[in-house]
Amino acid sequence: MSASTARKIVAETATTYQNLIGGKWQPASDGRTVDMVSPSDGLAFAKIARGTKADVDAAVKAARHAFEEGAWSKLTAVERGRLMTKLGEAILANHEELSQLEARDCGKPMKQARADITAAARYFEYYGGAADKVHGDTIPFLDGYMVTIMREPKGVTGHIIPWNYPAQMFGRSLAPALAMGNAVVMKPAEDACVAPLRMAQLAQEVGFPDGALNVVTGIGEEAGAALAAHPGIDFMSFTGSPEVGTLVQKAAAENHIGCTLELGGKSPQIVFEDADFDAVVPVVVNAIVQNGGQTCSAGSRVLVQKSIYDKFVALVVARFKLLRVGSHAMDLDCGPLISENQRKRVHGFIDRAKKDGIPVLAEAQLADGVPSGGFYVAPVLFGPVPRNNSLACDEVFGPVLSIIPFEDEADAVKLANATEFGLVAGIWTRDGGRQMRVAKKMRCGQVFVNGYGAGGGIELPFGGVKKSGHGREKGFEALKEFSHTKTIVFKHG
Ligand code: NAP
Ligand code: MG
Repeated sequence: MSASTARKIVAETATTYQNLIGGKWQPASDGRTVDMVSPSDGLAFAKIARGTKADVDAAVKAARHAFEEGAWSKLTAVERGRLMTKLGEAILANHEELSQLEARDCGKPMKQARADITAAARYFEYYGGAADKVHGDTIPFLDGYMVTIMREPKGVTGHIIPWNYPAQMFGRSLAPALAMGNAVVMKPAEDACVAPLRMAQLAQEVGFPDGALNVVTGIGEEAGAALAAHPGIDFMSFTGSPEVGTLVQKAAAENHIGCTLELGGKSPQIVFEDADFDAVVPVVVNAIVQNGGQTCSAGSRVLVQKSIYDKFVALVVARFKLLRVGSHAMDLDCGPLISENQRKRVHGFIDRAKKDGIPVLAEAQLADGVPSGGFYVAPVLFGPVPRNNSLACDEVFGPVLSIIPFEDEADAVKLANATEFGLVAGIWTRDGGRQMRVAKKMRCGQVFVNGYGAGGGIELPFGGVKKSGHGREKGFEALKEFSHTKTIVFKHG
């Protein structure tokens, strides 16, 4: 598709988006809307429905009907898988349009948006293929008995996702739930949700039965809180901040249901003195500027062995200085942050670090011609950052990289595990024994050795420990989260 055709499609879809409830697109029950703003220029480009408690209630009822007696409940696993595969194909067939929607909505560079849409499609391909491959089991029991274990869907699952990767989160959260046969209700983030709405439309077009997949947009404290607290939900999947994650978990406790929480991190990349610098430097820089640092698994702390500190840091500084920041359409290394609020929050971290006297090693540049009104923050490299400083401990969720020196292997392990978070870790060393030892000691859900994949790997189980949350997404692990076992005992004599 030519760029001009893609722009035209985007222009045509720039409208008031509605909620998808029980197979029907409808405005909020009270007709209210929220403006959608492009972070690249701060201008509104569309409206979404400001979903209400009544809308959430209708969506949960529609999902319940789909799950218990509607056409969705009658599909076999292979039929569900086929539908999901078709949705993956439809996402790929509309790749350029979706990429443009996602880039404008989030401000992310086009290349990032394109990668995200490919990943969104991949979730439906992967879980479409998995739908008919989740087996039960049998258990040897007493003489005269036959025991079988069935794996069943939870029922109606709720999904609250953030604004940083809306398209990918749509796939990551919904695809495993749908593969297991759950009916889903999603509340995407008010700051970015247009690509998920378009993908929900594609789901309808490829034939998902009414009510299997419902989307209610709006404000977190309204539609989000209503969904989290709804007694008709059987399981909740949440990705976002630790503060809201706590509220979601409390609501789940009230309803006696389970939930998965993915709450971000302060992920370390540990660079030992024998690391291959040529391989490390581009990866550690990319792991913090990717998506403007607004990635739960951003590599936001680089721990560097003292013996190589000066040499290694000089290489990172040189690369950092080459980074350029611009609008989504300029498609540079880094786009704007999602909102004025997020820009202020990140600037707060930067200003406090400067006041604390932490040296600024490098600052990237805004490119010429960056639109005014956008929410831009130039990436900043700080180091050495004291171990107890906020920059070494707290999630910034912006393009701010902290460099922290360490002495030896034991010190590196202690430092890597020293935050409240535990999501991902990177280990850079040629020493095979050390790779194993350190990987085993990391308190987190994913470890990369001589590489780093912030957010990557649909096949790879992903999730946190400690304040990063609990439960696993991606891979076959996610299918377990969205299902439970039922034990059936036959006495046959
Ligand atoms: P957030 O407030 O936790 O938002 C995440 C999702 O929860 C959004 O859909 C949001 O809706 C919804 N929500 C908000 N309040 C809710 C409530 N009371 N009940 C139920 N749902 C609610 O996160 P944020 O404000 O977007 O970002 C704040 C910080 O969270 C970031 O700076 C970052 O540190 C962290 N964060 C982490 C991740 C991650 O991937 N782990 C992603 C995003 C943010 P609305 O958007 O409509 O409010
Ligand atoms: Mg937006």
